[in-house]
Amino acid sequence: MISCRQASLWIEDELHKALPWHRKARLWLHLLGCRMCQTYRLHVARIRSLFRREEWIEESPGLSPAARERIRENLQRELNR
Ligand SMILES: [Zn+2]
Repeated sequence: MISCRQASLWIEDELHKALPWHRKARLWLHLLGCRMCQTYRLHVARIRSLFRREEWIEESPGLSPAARERIRENLQRELNR
């Protein structure tokens, strides 16, 4: 069984690059038995998808500053939920 510390490192790796299958299998085994790491994984995935939306906002020249601000506030609210 891998440690929670190791699991958290692999969870981050998994989001940035493909994790080798043997690591993925051990990570999943850990996640099956560890609620803390399951929650952590959901959290990391959610934050990452929010960041991707932020980038999209920055790259949309058609958006007015007020619209940008509004979307940013919504993202913030989602993060704090
Ligand atoms: Zn764990």
